[in-house]
Amino acid sequence: MTMTCLGIGIGASHSIAMGKAYLLARRGYRATPRWIQPNQVEAEVERFQQALESASQHLKSVRSRIPESIASDISQFIDTHLLMLEDSALTDAPIALIRTKHCSAEWALQLRRDALVRVFDEMEDPYLRTRKNDVDHVVQQIHKILYNHDQAQEENLEKRVILAPDLTPADTILMRHQGIAAFVTEYGSPMSHTAILARSLGIPAVVGIRNVTRFLQHGEQLVVDGRRGVVIADADEKILEHFRRRIAEQQAHAVTLRRLRDQPAITVDGQSISLMANIELPEDIETTRSNGAGGVGLYRTEFLYMNRESAPDEEEHLRTYLAVVQGLGGIPVTIRTLDLGADKQVDGGCPVLTPPACNPALGLRAIRLCLKEPDLFKPQLRAILRASAYGPVRIMIPMLSNLEELHKARRIIEDTQDELRGEGIDFDPEIPLGGMIEVPAAALSAASFARHLDFLSIGTNDLIQYTLAIDRVDDQVNYLFDPLHPAVLRLIKMTIDAARAASIPVSMCGEMAGDPRYTRLLLGMGLRNFSMQPDALLDVKNSVRGSDIRRLSEQAAALFHELDMADIGQMLRKINSD
Ligand code: PEP
Ligand code: MG
Repeated sequence: MTMTCLGIGIGASHSIAMGKAYLLARRGYRATPRWIQPNQVEAEVERFQQALESASQHLKSVRSRIPESIASDISQFIDTHLLMLEDSALTDAPIALIRTKHCSAEWALQLRRDALVRVFDEMEDPYLRTRKNDVDHVVQQIHKILYNHDQAQEENLEKRVILAPDLTPADTILMRHQGIAAFVTEYGSPMSHTAILARSLGIPAVVGIRNVTRFLQHGEQLVVDGRRGVVIADADEKILEHFRRRIAEQQAHAVTLRRLRDQPAITVDGQSISLMANIELPEDIETTRSNGAGGVGLYRTEFLYMNRESAPDEEEHLRTYLAVVQGLGGIPVTIRTLDLGADKQVDGGCPVLTPPACNPALGLRAIRLCLKEPDLFKPQLRAILRASAYGPVRIMIPMLSNLEELHKARRIIEDTQDELRGEGIDFDPEIPLGGMIEVPAAALSAASFARHLDFLSIGTNDLIQYTLAIDRVDDQVNYLFDPLHPAVLRLIKMTIDAARAASIPVSMCGEMAGDPRYTRLLLGMGLRNFSMQPDALLDVKNSVRGSDIRRLSEQAAALFHELDMADIGQMLRKINSD
């Protein structure tokens, strides 16, 4: 049996895939000084011109594969890059350097790139300053081709295992339409938004394998096991057969679970549990419906702002929300207001600026950004309110840390409602307003929040990050990310109890809610509403249907009784095996 186990990283998505490697070094190219002989000049110019042509073909081909439903945003982004490929600053100027200074094509391009970026850096206008990202995207594309002609030919990412130093959520959205098989990154963690997207798209992913892009060849056959966090190269037939069997088992398991689709989520002792979906884009409607979700407990709207030139206006927000509300055929949709900042950056030049912060996770993010930039917040609120006239919609505010933020947000919502009334535009005047409990301060003050809100939703991804002081995207401290930490469990319990005492619903929409290992514990702690990536719904339903809440409540109470002494992992195994 032969194989090279290339690395154990962190499994970020629970499935397995096989495919050929595609090395994506978007941020990796930086040409070093190199000069050519005078008699090589014309060949070098031609090589550069061919690279421009290939880059343009590549972008056109990517654009032609984008489904029409989302074409306008991403196509706009690609069109800008196509125009730049014709701009003399990136075409004639490098050629002049090749001819006059005898620079290599790569070096000439690098010099032009650096000069352009310097000009953008000096610009006063923050929007124009972001245009340097476009220059970088385009230059990287040409460099990639100049450095590796074969790679340039391989413009089709379909069924490829993408290897990259890191990927942003914006990258992942672009790649989802290209049918990639899996991705492996050198950095990142399973709680990053990139990994969350991978899970919700069912893309197997392993993150945090340092230097993976240095050790693998483009085109190599790989196996990616997203559950165990393993990447294997050079596997012989026996190993490949083993993984083919495991993929088949996965598919068989999915078929078995499918039978639960129309079964109610009711526990053994007859309690009905609400299982809802987290969605990122209108395309997620299909998996939400096919997995029988009872509603959308979290619609992450920030993905609407990514990979584009300008922020969406009210009409675009409205079109998008209506597609979701109507596509879901009457089940409730919880629209979370914009949560940009930290690792959710827009990419692509959209001028929603979250200025560089000392520590972005603790910086101007989510509701903080919206309150600071009402012009960003208002069009979204107007659109959410307008959408509420067409179906059951709820508004949810992320990252609340004090009541003042809630009161300010409510005032803006009420002003927006007055405006709409004045304009004779319909909306649901009773639209429920909820808040995410994802900062320890909010969990500790959950009782106060519960008095002022219609529902609470526990965002464990951030709650764990902030409680345990671990950046959720940093793989070096990922080992500390622990949903079972006593402090985390206490904050969750406090939030559930506070909502119950105030007689308002509380759900959980962090990744913990979609992990069937925690379903019974959470039921025992009193949680009755779960929201998760759509393809986890049936697994969690399976767990719910095998649970007896009376017994679980006793077991959870016993666990809390000795929370600081107990081996929580062991108690959890016992709860799950009873
Ligand atoms: C969370 O923090 O748990 C959450 C659901 O929000 P996000 O992952 O989008 O930050
Ligand atoms: Mg969050």
